[in-house]
Amino acid sequence: MAFADQNQFNALIVDNAAVWINSLDVDGRVTFWNRAAERISGYTREEVLGHTRIWEWLYPDPYYREAVFTRARQIIQQGDALLGFETTIRTRAGDERTMSWYSEQLFDPLGELLGSSAVAYDITDRRRLEDSHDRQYRLQGLIAEISAALINIAAEDVDRVVEENLERLGVFFGLGRAYVFRFDLPADRMSLVDEWCADGVQAYRDHLQQIPLKTHDWVTSQVLARQVVHVPDVDDLPPEARAEQEEFRREQIRSLLLIPLVSDQKAFGFLGFDAVEAPYCWTQDQITVLRLVADMIAGTLARKQVELELARQARVDGLTGLANRREFDSQLERECAARRERSLSLLMIDLDHFKPYNDAFGHQAGDDCLRAVADVMRSILNRPSDLGARYGGEEFACILADTDAEGGLQVAEHIREAVYALNLGHPERAEGRVTISIGVCSVHTRWPVEPRALLRRADEALYRAKRAGRNRVESLTMR
Ligand code: GH3
Ligand code: MG
Ligand code: MG
Repeated sequence: MAFADQNQFNALIVDNAAVWINSLDVDGRVTFWNRAAERISGYTREEVLGHTRIWEWLYPDPYYREAVFTRARQIIQQGDALLGFETTIRTRAGDERTMSWYSEQLFDPLGELLGSSAVAYDITDRRRLEDSHDRQYRLQGLIAEISAALINIAAEDVDRVVEENLERLGVFFGLGRAYVFRFDLPADRMSLVDEWCADGVQAYRDHLQQIPLKTHDWVTSQVLARQVVHVPDVDDLPPEARAEQEEFRREQIRSLLLIPLVSDQKAFGFLGFDAVEAPYCWTQDQITVLRLVADMIAGTLARKQVELELARQARVDGLTGLANRREFDSQLERECAARRERSLSLLMIDLDHFKPYNDAFGHQAGDDCLRAVADVMRSILNRPSDLGARYGGEEFACILADTDAEGGLQVAEHIREAVYALNLGHPERAEGRVTISIGVCSVHTRWPVEPRALLRRADEALYRAKRAGRNRVESLTMR
């Protein structure tokens, strides 16, 4: 034994141990405080020896302090030592550390209680790691739920289900908003299509429609290049993001994360998350997982787009882009079924002597001519309730809701004149150009109308126009 005094040797070891070691007397006053306790707590032994006030410093919240001591007392009164008892202390520097305590009571050789000694491990870093692993694990569980929710949903449910999942993600991360923006690339614009907001956070869907991409070039150029935009602090945005910074501040955004929605290698929008009250910094692992979510949502939205496009094609005439016969029939059915006082006008349009036109110029030119007439109809029918349709062959029809006989006649004359003004050369017409004849049937009633009767009457008017020399409008009413 090199040391003369075993006690001195022991004291040296304890004082220099890497773990926090302290002892207390029966009244809780500190009787020993090693270097590690000084280093971790920030309080020197001079400050703490002989007092109980260190507990007020380490646990400044009186409720928490009381809870810690009550629990520790309970354990000791059961005759157990404290083993791995966890508390959160506030250090002198003001940060919080998670400590794991091992404490035993000390007795003298006669069995008299002297006090207690404690060893404490700083497990702050370990806890943080465990927490983040736990979060990552729970996030993966959430992703599995989201993917299950997005599989096989019908096109009409897509927005609802996407918004439900935006909520799940927003709540998980404790954010203010989660949303989907969609680009309209031909128009160079973007719109907010799905949105979830936390309680008390303003929704922006109504404000963020048809936004020019150019005004947010910093964001959109990155998203279009399929890059994630991660802004941990809006205050730190670069000067070239000035427009975005102003917009974000106006919306009270502190941090945000935008993930491109990609289909067929092209970004068609983005999934966005806003931290509103406090800033939020996403980890690389979280971003990786959220990219997966964005891919699932992108797949769902792209599929919805395909379904909508198919449904649209089923209603549209392939040659002219007008409504097709099927869509015309069902629209006429709906209009005719109304039970309220209203007017309704139906136009039947037929190209004059179109057979010789085709025979002279060929079917291709004939088709071009039909498209030109359809364009004229489109340009003149501009009420949302107007419907222009290709009825079949070289015949067109228009349903004009809430339009009386005078209005119907006026629209018909406009169309006739506009086709005349196209001045498409015709091989046989006296006018030397393509013309059309139109039959109008108008009705004013508050009872349902028989669609076929209306069609017959419009046909009758058309027949009269043809007989009267073509390139004219004839109008009839129905009672
Ligand atoms: P009218 O003034 O009495 O209506 O004479 P018309 O020649 O237009 O009448 P008809 O019904 O005898 O002929 C219709 C012609 O329209 C037949 C065909 O040459 C042409 N046609 C019908 N559908 C199409 C089409 O989809 N494309 C093309 N290019 N021509 C069509
Ligand atoms: Mg015809
Ligand atoms: Mg014809």
